[in-house]
Amino acid sequence: MAYKIPLFDLNFDKEEENAIIDTLRSKWISIGPKCEEFENKFAEALVIKYSLATANCTVALHLAVKLIGIEPDDEVIVPSLTFAATVNCVTYAGGIPVFADIKGLNDLTISPEDIRDKITSKTRAIIVMHYGGFACDMDSIMKIAKEFNLYVIEDACHAPLSQYKGKKLGTIGDIGCFSFFSNKNMSTGEGGMLVTNNENYYKRAKLLRSHGMTSMSYQRATGHATKYDVVEIGYNYRIDDIRASIGLAQLKKLPEDLNKRAVIRKRYLEGLKSLKKIILPFENNTEFVSNYIMPIILVDSDEEKREQVRDKLHLAGIQSSMHYPAAHLYSSYEKKLDELPVTEYVSNCEITLPMFSKLTLDQTDYIISELKNILK
Ligand SMILES: *Cc1c(COP(=O)(O)O)cnc(C)c1O
Repeated sequence: MAYKIPLFDLNFDKEEENAIIDTLRSKWISIGPKCEEFENKFAEALVIKYSLATANCTVALHLAVKLIGIEPDDEVIVPSLTFAATVNCVTYAGGIPVFADIKGLNDLTISPEDIRDKITSKTRAIIVMHYGGFACDMDSIMKIAKEFNLYVIEDACHAPLSQYKGKKLGTIGDIGCFSFFSNKNMSTGEGGMLVTNNENYYKRAKLLRSHGMTSMSYQRATGHATKYDVVEIGYNYRIDDIRASIGLAQLKKLPEDLNKRAVIRKRYLEGLKSLKKIILPFENNTEFVSNYIMPIILVDSDEEKREQVRDKLHLAGIQSSMHYPAAHLYSSYEKKLDELPVTEYVSNCEITLPMFSKLTLDQTDYIISELKNILK
């Protein structure tokens, strides 16, 4: 069944089509000038020194964990209310993810108090995830990191151009990682970006992105290099110029896209705030936010009741989702019995409503009124 209102829709038009055609006709389709332009424009938009485009965010996170030197048995504190990749990247390097709870039902980001409680002599780093594009408590987190000499990686997949006290998210910790998977704020199909102000990280990440090779095909094809060495065992984590050119078109549209999302969020908040049966996380946020998703949380609820509400939305033609199943309860991570009560409640009782820039206010009003009927 096609939904009357999908959870997400691409913000694509002629610009993306033209970008792809231009790249195809240039006959350079793998990593090359479009990728470099995309990286430069992204770094400029984020006000950061270095930006490295990757095949997706999962590999950017893997590179980040490698760059800070995570080794077997090192502990890395991570949120559980996140996508699996935030956690898996630690495991790739042999590290041990240690889960921390979130702050509360009004703020779904990692709790600095719980981070502090989870620190041991083996802790090396903290990975934070800016849920929905809303900033983690970065002042407290950076203070803890400094006190215990820990690295900070920001999974900023939800948060392109989101702000925290005048800074862009992804630029506050040691390394920031972004995703351009189709349903993200910027879509290239698959794609990611690693950003940092650290020149050594950038240079090494660039090597590791392409097998550890000292020169790439484009440089050789353009006469800037004739041979190469492999100086460290790397990967193929490259993006291609076709996707990078879509990324350039998407980046150009991003500010306007986010402004539209902000208008939609405001409409949702106005329409839903009188409902006693739901909590609107981050309701009092005043920072500029990317609004990747529109989460609501059912009060005094459980997974079964949540699914009943979602089924009724489904019948009304409204697609919904949930963010996220708690990562510490995945079969692959269930070895340790972490207790994360707030994360577990949200993971059972959160509903993600449609959010994308082409969603109209009439559609938003329809979702609000259907939800009111369902919760009556
Ligand atoms: C989408 C997402 C990822 C993974 O990004 P990919 O580009 O699909 O690899 C990681 N973390 C979070 C929070 C995400 O939303």
